[in-house]
Amino acid sequence: MECEKLKDCPFYNDKMDIESGLGKLYKRRYCEGDKTQCARYTVLKELGARFVPLDLYPNMQKRAEEIISQNK
Ligand code: SF4
Repeated sequence: MECEKLKDCPFYNDKMDIESGLGKLYKRRYCEGDKTQCARYTVLKELGARFVPLDLYPNMQKRAEEIISQNK
């Protein structure tokens, strides 16, 4: 299912630096596939948008967990 953040998300809107092939893959996997696996989405849901760093990529689940545990 599509992520409801597609319109505002800097990753989905190509505002984050990533090799385009990889970007496409991540968009399919996370944004248009399973948003619950996305690191950005996880932090957003747990803490709110202002806690999501601009350089947090969808595959960085470990970093997402660290951010959450540091800010809870
Ligand atoms: S799945 Fe993650 S990267 Fe994709 S639009 Fe949603 S929050 Fe952004």
